Amino acid sequence: MPSLQSVISCLSDYDPSAMSVDQVASILADVIEPIRGIEQVAIRAGLDRVLAEDIVSPIDVPAHDNAAMDGYAFSSAALATATADGVTLDVAGTSFAGGAIGVTASATQAVRIMTGAVMPAGCDTVIPQEFVEVIDDGAGTQRIRFAADAVRAGDNRRLRGEDLARGQAALQNGRILRPADIGMLASLGIPEIKVRRRLRVAFFSTGDELRSIGEPLDPGCVFDSNRYTLHGMLRRLHVDLIDMGVVRDDPDALETAFRTACENADAIITSGGVSVGEADFTKQTMSRLGEVTFWKIAMRPGRPMAFGRITSDGHDALLFGLPGNPVAVMVTFYHFVRAALHRQMGAEVPPLPLFRVRSAGPIRKKPGRTEYQRGVLARGADGEWEVRITGQQGSGVLRSMSEANCFIVLGHDQGPVSAGGAVEVMLFDGLI
Ligand code: AMP
Ligand code: MG
Repeated sequence: MPSLQSVISCLSDYDPSAMSVDQVASILADVIEPIRGIEQVAIRAGLDRVLAEDIVSPIDVPAHDNAAMDGYAFSSAALATATADGVTLDVAGTSFAGGAIGVTASATQAVRIMTGAVMPAGCDTVIPQEFVEVIDDGAGTQRIRFAADAVRAGDNRRLRGEDLARGQAALQNGRILRPADIGMLASLGIPEIKVRRRLRVAFFSTGDELRSIGEPLDPGCVFDSNRYTLHGMLRRLHVDLIDMGVVRDDPDALETAFRTACENADAIITSGGVSVGEADFTKQTMSRLGEVTFWKIAMRPGRPMAFGRITSDGHDALLFGLPGNPVAVMVTFYHFVRAALHRQMGAEVPPLPLFRVRSAGPIRKKPGRTEYQRGVLARGADGEWEVRITGQQGSGVLRSMSEANCFIVLGHDQGPVSAGGAVEVMLFDGLI
């Protein structure tokens, strides 16, 4: 891995006390490299894991041209033989899904066919059964009749290999596998795949004012919520978690915690104790154990953040020292740590989309920092999508995150927004 110092020294305008969001993101991307371990797992166990190989289709899917509807297969040449009554064809047999292959039809014949059944030789089109009138002459031959304009040549037929042709790239190394991917692997008959080993992430809270649930809340103290928020956010990334609790502001306790974390995890996430005025031992301990920088980032919430790599007993780990304020923890996690951990786990994840919508009310904003306000996106009275901020936007107000369904991302150079003005939002929830 390149050292943090070597990456930073290549930047012309590097100032740790005035970092832009983009600068931080690009330093993280340059410094972090994927873990190497790979495991072989059954495809179902691959859900949410990072694929560690390219998958190329070993077969054509589907393996044969087949019917997309229940109906009658015939040759589209017959469409030109239509009379005023429509197209009339003799029924030559039936083709069932999974049934015998080898049914054939001449130009004047049709074959009764079920969805998924192999197209009979000589047929290229399927007329759905609801458009067909069946004529039984009582003499054993069945005929069908349908309007010529009820179908076009090639309709309701799936072509061999149209889903995936043999030799075609199906899934790429680095993909985080989703339900459709697992199904696609099954459709290729692939039983097992290579995935990256799970990333191990240790996390703890620092701060003498913190109390754990169950302890009395002494005057001036708060319950430690960051560890719970972090636990939830990390669970969604499907990493292995090491919850190290609350660590007192004591040099020995901090050193032991950082060393234990470092020896057991690929990445360490702490909250609290990284602000500039902080009179505690967290920053000193971080610096002593490795190469750690302390940034002031032009963003809100989430200004202070430490990043680096620490070493203990021959093991090293990435370190993310997040701010203490509960919303700042979430914002720095989603906008920096998430992508950094994806990178470390070997995942190729495209950036999340931003959507332009109307702001329901005015929003205060100063140019010169990126803001991540919490919003509720909903349809306005006129049916158009609009976003409204969730009340108090203080970096300690966790309710603003809980009530929101999106971030309103206000760029570095942006000034105040007036009611009805356009803003960009990043949605919290996706379907898959
Ligand atoms: P700090 O970054 O340590 O100066 O903390 C900033 C603010 O966040 C302070 O009000 C802390 O009490 C609060 N805070 C720090 N850690 C936590 C935590 N784990 N849970 C809830 N609040 C916290
Ligand atoms: Mg503190």
